[in-house]
Amino acid sequence: MKVIVLLGPPGSGKGTAAERLKERLGLDHVSTGDMLREAVRAGTPAGKEAERCMQAGELVADEIIMRLVEERMAAGGAQQRYLFDGFPRTVRQAELLESVLERRNGALERVLSLEAPRDVLVSRLTGRRTCRRCGTNFHVRNIPPRQPGICDACGGDLYQRPDDNEATILNRLAVYNRQTESLIARYASSGVLVHVATDKPLDEMVAELVAALDGPARAERRA
Ligand code: AMP
Repeated sequence: MKVIVLLGPPGSGKGTAAERLKERLGLDHVSTGDMLREAVRAGTPAGKEAERCMQAGELVADEIIMRLVEERMAAGGAQQRYLFDGFPRTVRQAELLESVLERRNGALERVLSLEAPRDVLVSRLTGRRTCRRCGTNFHVRNIPPRQPGICDACGGDLYQRPDDNEATILNRLAVYNRQTESLIARYASSGVLVHVATDKPLDEMVAELVAALDGPARAERRA
């Protein structure tokens, strides 16, 4: 099995990139945020525990995330190519991923570090609208749906995530800087990291991501 990781702060475009890459490259998209929102909706014990952290923009306990990810990867065969979006977010989660890959004879193929200026992150998050049914993301100005309030992909209702309010957004960015950003250095030293600036038209960003997956890893920043 192979794993590609999308790393980057909230609003850097991980979810949108994942939607496009999974279609183009036939990847198995794993979003721990989507899994947690599903668990909250279903009212599972993990969902009940996670909900308060998510509302506050704090990270959910590593143990809960590890269980979800291990269950999700349990059925994956040798040919599986996963695209992780929003995982790992802590050093412990990165270690867990490494140990699963070691056990299953898998490889971390690439880590794509998605980057955008802070004001762009905040405006993307405040304007984001998400489909209640299929999870596709839109933006009131940047990626408007064809019909306001309706998902282009499945016709579901669009809503604003409860954690996409300004106070929670600022905390999520601070939590990223405190708990997740250091993973960039970890992956740079293992030679799998590519930096991709995402403050550009969507098609350009996707083309760069595809090129980054095809080409060799480069630790230097891409324009
Ligand atoms: P996301 O959809 O990736 O923006 O995640 C939404 C929220 O879910 C985050 O703010 C965290 O509270 C929680 N979450 C998602 N993935 C993780 C993870 N790998 N570790 C801890 N918490 C997570």
